[in-house]
Amino acid sequence: MAERDFLETPLQFLKGVGPRRAADLKRVGLSTVEDLLYRFPTRYEDRAGFRTIAELRPGAAASIAGEIVSCGIRPTRRPRFKIFEMLVRDRTGSLRAVWFNQPFLGDVFKPRQRVILFGKLELTSHGLQIQNPQYEILKDDAGTDGEGQDDTLHTGRIVPVYERTGTLTAKVQRALVYHALQQLPVALSDPLPVDVRARHQLVDRRTALVEVHFPPAGAAVDELNRFKSPAQRRLIFEEFFLFQLGLVLRRRSAKSERKPRSVVINDEIRESARRVLPFRLTGDQKHVIAEIVGDMQRQEPMNRLLQGDVGSGKTIVALIAALVAMENGFQVAFMAPTEILAEQHFLTIRRLLESSRFRMTLLTGATPAKKRREIQAELSGGSIHLAVGTHALVQDPVGFRELGLVIIDEQHRFGVLQRATLRAKGIHPDVLVMTATPIPRTLALTTYGDLDVSVMREMPPGRVPIKTIAKPESRRDEIYDFIRHQIDAGRQAYVIYPLVEESAKIDLKAATEMADHLAQDVFPAYRVALLHGRLKQDAKDRVMEGFARGDYQILVSTTVVEVGVDVSNAAAILIEHAERFGLSQLHQLRGRVGRGPHQSYCILLYQAPLSDQGRARLKALTETNDGFVIAERDLELRGPGDFFGTRQSGMPTLRVGDLLRDHELMESARREAVAALDDGSRADTLIALVRTSWEQRFGLVGIG
Ligand code: ADP
Ligand code: MG
Repeated sequence: MAERDFLETPLQFLKGVGPRRAADLKRVGLSTVEDLLYRFPTRYEDRAGFRTIAELRPGAAASIAGEIVSCGIRPTRRPRFKIFEMLVRDRTGSLRAVWFNQPFLGDVFKPRQRVILFGKLELTSHGLQIQNPQYEILKDDAGTDGEGQDDTLHTGRIVPVYERTGTLTAKVQRALVYHALQQLPVALSDPLPVDVRARHQLVDRRTALVEVHFPPAGAAVDELNRFKSPAQRRLIFEEFFLFQLGLVLRRRSAKSERKPRSVVINDEIRESARRVLPFRLTGDQKHVIAEIVGDMQRQEPMNRLLQGDVGSGKTIVALIAALVAMENGFQVAFMAPTEILAEQHFLTIRRLLESSRFRMTLLTGATPAKKRREIQAELSGGSIHLAVGTHALVQDPVGFRELGLVIIDEQHRFGVLQRATLRAKGIHPDVLVMTATPIPRTLALTTYGDLDVSVMREMPPGRVPIKTIAKPESRRDEIYDFIRHQIDAGRQAYVIYPLVEESAKIDLKAATEMADHLAQDVFPAYRVALLHGRLKQDAKDRVMEGFARGDYQILVSTTVVEVGVDVSNAAAILIEHAERFGLSQLHQLRGRVGRGPHQSYCILLYQAPLSDQGRARLKALTETNDGFVIAERDLELRGPGDFFGTRQSGMPTLRVGDLLRDHELMESARREAVAALDDGSRADTLIALVRTSWEQRFGLVGIG
């Protein structure tokens, strides 16, 4: 059998797998030999030497092998609490094993089975026992184990332990993998070029596949369990290398697109930009504007990410880019994640463009149908130059006459797919994505690996760093006093309520009641307004405009104010149930204050007791105002899968690698992928390799 074919062999044709088992395997996502071999053990146990029962000591973890003497459920006085208890013996003695609340074990174990137990030993009033151990049945009393395997696979060595899924127990999988490896061709092809392997000291693919499942005698178990063994590193690198090849190819194919025309810059345009500026730009703002306008002058479409912490002044940067496009006769689409933010951008930009000849409009989900049709006609006719809106802007049938620039604010709310939809509407418009959630380096190599990145670290002058404190519920009265104090000094304040999807109704009620309570009982002398997502658009507008003008002193709000809202006199933000919010979200909310010359405060009110994660989040927030540090902490706490929320956001589906754990390998893989594609002699082979499987393997939008 040719080797390529072997890895692609459907598992059903593997020796020892019948149609029934093949169907089981398929259900858990394993169709081919390759699928099976690239499913890593989740951990390894050193069963080279079992402890005898007589040797066991409390406090340590140990593996033992023995025979079940008796087992069964032991009732307890608490009705719903069940203990499954087992007595095992080896030639030196016997030991009690207990599992809490796993009554189904009654169907798993029978006396006289030979079992392996792995777990921690505790000294209790019943004597020494092993609690909730991992287990494996070696042989039942009939002397068969269902797989016809001898013990040498499962004991007497470093043993791979796989995650159990469906009927696929660790032991079954171990046996299957063993069979598959027996048949692995001697000369297995290797997608990693020889020189790449040499540079990174990576073992060949065949060795890696064998040793990742059955580590050689004497291998370091702790290294294996940290996923740092030579075999694991090699296979993780392979996965990252293939992933990066696709990413680099995707970027290059985007770069080969051509705009029908690129923008030009002349003195007149520079002067027109200068006229709209309400303040002097910071050095960072000037720098990123130069990068953006540089892209716009090129023939290939811009695909740039602008990262700048909350309050760093991204809006004006976007506006200058928009102005350059409009001066060149292009239309511009400016998209925001929420209606409130779109509205705010619209008002800001309209004020700044007042004296210019450009016409702009606001288009959101709340725009009435008749008005929408009018706007659409004007957009396709070209008489509107700038459209600000929510994703309603990308919904059919909005058509522009000549869309030259698309600006997407706070992109982490928009998926890659939506961006693609919008790009498809222009010919190949320049795209500028702005985010206040910095992309940690680890993720920048993946999600945003095909964007150019501009960063603003500098804040506009005169900002005073926000002071952040976390307080338990019991200190509520003090905090109210503090807010009163702020308002008496002429400032305004936000009070934020969490609104979680599942219980939106209840929370909304809580927010509404809280607003009433604050208005009537706590702050009767002040003007309090309520803002939430269910208000009609014009009601929202009235509230926001009123707060911006200072008509209201306290704004009670759900998280609809999370991004972008800009009221520089607001100097205090009280976040209720801060323990329920994510770290990035809290940082965004905090960014609603500290936008003017006043000392601002962020107060995180929490309900004790805090979970470890909750405590870590609040701690991070009180320790730093730096959005970059916050984002790194957030990623650590949540893991890459949750960081952006959805799969659409461009997170790859990885089989063996882990973006956090293995990020150094990802960086090396990136460099090697770029170099390999630059090398004409082998680029074609690699491109062919990636084209066939990239999309499917990594679950991302294709290379194109
Ligand atoms: P973000 O990056 O969070 O979108 P904004 O664009 O909303 O920030 O800017 C925050 C505030 O800072 C706004 O009130 C804006 O007018 C002001 N601002 C931006 N750039 C400057 C600057 N160079 N000098 C003074 N104020 C600025
Ligand atoms: Mg903004």
